Amino acid sequence: MATLNEIVRKSDLVRRAYDFAKKAHAGQKRKNGEPYFNHPLAAAESIVEWGLDDPTIAAALLHDTVEDTSFTIQDLRNEFGEEVSFLVDGVTKIGKVKYRGIEAKVENLRKFILYLSQDIRVILVKLADRLNNMKTLYALHPSKQKRVALETMEIYAPLAYRLGMQKLSGELEDLAFPYLYPQEHKWLIENVKERFEERERYSRRVQPILEEELRKDGVEMTKIDSRAKRYTSLYKKLLRYDMNIESIYDLVAMRVIVKSLEDCYAALGTIHKIWPPVPHRFKDYIALPKPNGYRSLHTTVFGPENKITEIQIKTQQMHDEAENGIAAHFAYQQIKNTKNYLERNVAFADRKELGWIQQLRNWQKNFTNSEEFVQSLKIDFFKDRILTLTPQGEVIDLPVGATPVDFAYQIHTDIGNHCSGAKVNGKIAALEHPLKSGDMVEIMTQKNKGPSEAWLNFVHTGNARNHIRAALRHSGPSMFNKKELRTLEFKFTISDRVGLLSELTGVISRSHVNIQTVNAKLPSVKITCGALPKEKAEKLLAKLKKIKEIREASYRFV
Ligand code: MN
Repeated sequence: MATLNEIVRKSDLVRRAYDFAKKAHAGQKRKNGEPYFNHPLAAAESIVEWGLDDPTIAAALLHDTVEDTSFTIQDLRNEFGEEVSFLVDGVTKIGKVKYRGIEAKVENLRKFILYLSQDIRVILVKLADRLNNMKTLYALHPSKQKRVALETMEIYAPLAYRLGMQKLSGELEDLAFPYLYPQEHKWLIENVKERFEERERYSRRVQPILEEELRKDGVEMTKIDSRAKRYTSLYKKLLRYDMNIESIYDLVAMRVIVKSLEDCYAALGTIHKIWPPVPHRFKDYIALPKPNGYRSLHTTVFGPENKITEIQIKTQQMHDEAENGIAAHFAYQQIKNTKNYLERNVAFADRKELGWIQQLRNWQKNFTNSEEFVQSLKIDFFKDRILTLTPQGEVIDLPVGATPVDFAYQIHTDIGNHCSGAKVNGKIAALEHPLKSGDMVEIMTQKNKGPSEAWLNFVHTGNARNHIRAALRHSGPSMFNKKELRTLEFKFTISDRVGLLSELTGVISRSHVNIQTVNAKLPSVKITCGALPKEKAEKLLAKLKKIKEIREASYRFV
């Protein structure tokens, strides 16, 4: 595979991106003291390693130029065209989304990142960016370390896993683990290190024996190696096994890479012939791939010295796909004959043309169990929902047509109740302004402001509606705005009878409404009371109408 340096020499686009980024970041330093350019360079190297195309490599080199230098996205568009600037813009947008550990919203956030990306290559650049940021996380302030590590563990590692990038996902988790669980990490290192080393020595002793047997059986083999289980996944497994390391058989697994799919099963036969399998431990992920596309045969055997050993058997392609997932698919099936990125994006959405799109669709299906997550990666996976952002980068999930008032109530009832104005993407917007996905919404509040009845005409969420009604009902307008305080006047036409007037006023006072004046010129009676919401007035009126001798009843605000 070509290195970044070779590609810089070969590709005009990549070389121009390289020079541009280097110049743009000149003089800037990372928190760890290194020249800033080292960072985009490292991201681009990951992109090269994953076998992606030149525009993605260019985008990785340029990914921080809009955020961290004086250049704008328009500058990049002029300089590098639509495709590269589109990718950089996507990465910049995703960068604004922040996870702050609200468990219930984590799935939303993962979906939102896919939504914002619009193109799988955008996420890949973001993942490459995150990988390097995690490697240099030590240089950041501890509070920031925690936040970034948590976001990596909860958002980016799972995203990588779901894109089938097992190696990256594990790497990100292992980089985040010590920041999030320092005690547990220390325990693990102390308790596992020796066992790891012992198992690795064992594995090296056993490999030549297996190689010899496979050769005798004529299995075409590429290589055998072993892989130590990653700390984070080991820790998760230990939690399920009462922290008993003895019961973890894949601490170090042997990996047999063979030439063809047939060789996978042939190798399995050889292995089971020389070492008896542990019952119920065989898994055929070739016939039944994991939801993220992972394919391999797994078996656990009683190896030499009667040691229980896990062995994984796969082809090189299966191995590459397991390591690099969707990126490997990209590398294996580079989309050819597409003239520009728009056409390619169409290709991205056309599942008939490319086998792996189908797989991606399957991955997406697995991404969430609900139907809302959708048709193509391109657009449209939230048909009836919009995802908006708080200035802190928290994602607020709303129905289509939702307004800043819905948004405000979604954050907190108090914010909704005291909402006085809104900014959408930094600009003042009307409270009834319909929001779009990706909008960043800032709500302004005033302590003495309260919900207005007019809001009920444009809010879209039941949540907002209920809270507005409750606020109007319970507190009455006087709580919120003295100027709106109005007097309620009831007007009755009654038949005269002894005690009727006191019955009328009694009903009103029992409803906890203050009577201000009573004016009777029979058969007409006018009673004025303190202000109350329309709904409450209606209810009271209905009650009063039940009194037999009342022939007519109405009310108005005066
Ligand atoms: Mn970056």
